[in-house]
Amino acid sequence: MGFSLIDGGDGAVPIVALTKDGLAQWREQAPAWQRDWAAAIGFAAEPGKFALLPGKEGGLAGVLVGSGGDEAAMWVLAGLSESLPAGNYRLSAVPEGGDAGQIALGWALGTYAFTRYQEKKKPGAARLVWPDGADRGLVERLAAAVFLARDLISTPASDMGPEELAAAAARVAEAAGARYRVVVGDELLRENYPTIHLVGRASDRPPRLVDIAWGDERAPKVTLVGKGVCFDSGGLDLKPASGMLNMKKDMAGAAIVLALGQAIMAARLNVRLRVLLPCVENSVAGNAMRPRDIVRTRKGISVEIGNTDAEGRLILCDGLAEAASETPALLVDIATLTGAARVALGPELPALFCNDDALAAVLVAAGAAADDPLWRMPLWRPYRRNLDSKIADINNVSEGPHGGAITAALYLQEFVAPGIPWAHLDVMAWNTRARPGRPEGAEAQTLRALYGHIAGRFG
Ligand code: MN
Ligand code: MN
Repeated sequence: MGFSLIDGGDGAVPIVALTKDGLAQWREQAPAWQRDWAAAIGFAAEPGKFALLPGKEGGLAGVLVGSGGDEAAMWVLAGLSESLPAGNYRLSAVPEGGDAGQIALGWALGTYAFTRYQEKKKPGAARLVWPDGADRGLVERLAAAVFLARDLISTPASDMGPEELAAAAARVAEAAGARYRVVVGDELLRENYPTIHLVGRASDRPPRLVDIAWGDERAPKVTLVGKGVCFDSGGLDLKPASGMLNMKKDMAGAAIVLALGQAIMAARLNVRLRVLLPCVENSVAGNAMRPRDIVRTRKGISVEIGNTDAEGRLILCDGLAEAASETPALLVDIATLTGAARVALGPELPALFCNDDALAAVLVAAGAAADDPLWRMPLWRPYRRNLDSKIADINNVSEGPHGGAITAALYLQEFVAPGIPWAHLDVMAWNTRARPGRPEGAEAQTLRALYGHIAGRFG
């Protein structure tokens, strides 16, 4: 892919990143015509704003870009890959608080475009010379992973059903030399994955579970589980049109853990990786699950269906029960699970639920280091009673309107044995506005944070 990053190009145009204070210093030593030009166009080093500088003969001699503000240093060049004229550029100096690799990754992520259905939507023709000190392998692994997740999430359900999502996972597994199997349709019942079957059975595109295993069996076990609801109509408790509109992205958890797994395998981290992807379509038909139906899960817990739109936790609970059965050193699930998490934290801050305080702290720190933030919310035990059912072990929804992200996490916790360090990430996986390096649309939220933690711990 290349990500518009190139080896040293002679004559590459220098890019100078400046804070407002830095702009004053730049003025003192800049050639008069550039200083006058920057003043004439009103360049004030606002974060993300840039100015093309003329050379003495009228050519392009440099680029100024504003840095600082609320954006992390890694995004300082991220808006330029699309905006600059075709040509080669180089960063003149890594700005204070920045990291060459992170800045290169920001640039690379800014070159993304979802081109499957729109030929003309091509990335820009500006190229950046690899900054000194950047770990190219790391940048390319992470950029490739984020691009994969964005592509999968953006693809509409018509072309990204359970079969296509599983096929994408199989391609990743095969490329990495991983073992994998896919349990399809009624085989799910025979292999005791009743909730995955229950949620997916009303679609004429059969549900399935992808199970990828890679690495040395003696290495620490890291297991990733991702919600793969390829389209969520809500089932019989149908969603309103506004809530259903973007439900092609309800498989984002599966896309993100698959992409994260790809990066882990490409880096050959010292882990025994397992990736479990329940892939379903939550659809409506005569055989659809009904409100007040009861399902006996893989773990043996009986679940009353309070609402068929709370399907994500149903498919995850069988996946988590299987994951927990081999006591991994780290168990992570990612899911576009609740609107309540968005109400609490907004679209740009995924919610972390964790049964281990030390793990929660390092994950939050890894998110901050990668500028891929997450925020811890509580597994508040007293709310567990809100999931009580009169005739089953648990209901899949709570009665009242409050604390929905917490009760969803508490539901999942029932299926994870207490001693297993477990993190549950409730993500939106969608940029509701464009920011440098993060175009509006699908986003691999928490991928870089988790990679940073796992690579640092098991590298
Ligand atoms: Mn739903
Ligand atoms: Mn859903």
